[in-house]
Amino acid sequence: MTAQPTVAGSCLCGAVRFRGALPPKWVAHCHCSMCRRAHGAGFVTWVGFDRAAVTIESGSETLTRYASSAQATRSFCSRCGSMIFFESGHWPDEIHVTLANLHGSHGLVPQAHAYWSSRASWADWSGTELPTVDPPDHDTDAQGGSDA
Ligand SMILES: [Zn+2]
Ligand SMILES: [Zn+2]
Repeated sequence: MTAQPTVAGSCLCGAVRFRGALPPKWVAHCHCSMCRRAHGAGFVTWVGFDRAAVTIESGSETLTRYASSAQATRSFCSRCGSMIFFESGHWPDEIHVTLANLHGSHGLVPQAHAYWSSRASWADWSGTELPTVDPPDHDTDAQGGSDA
């Protein structure tokens, strides 16, 4: 019997480690204002898993759960601040995990833009290519930041 493939993930500091069974249900960019504010980012890319498909392997005591609305809870590492999990009564059988916190070459790619009408006006979503820059030392690799 072949073991089901999984993907490992962690927060920035590595205190919170988890594993998700592949394949997930979906992968999507979320452009809602709540995600934007919670993560300090132009959008957040989520991977939707069945709740039972995600196992927290370490650091569950380090996770802080924040009720961001009557329906939703966002969980983050209280040590490094990484926002990792989203749960909502709207999707009671799912847990949403940030794609950016998954490690390795899992092959997961976004399939959709969610809440497109709420997207940040300052982000360039027209499809125009922006120039890329690669300055040194914006940040250094943390313990949980390396692919493994
Ligand atoms: Zn952490
Ligand atoms: Zn959102």
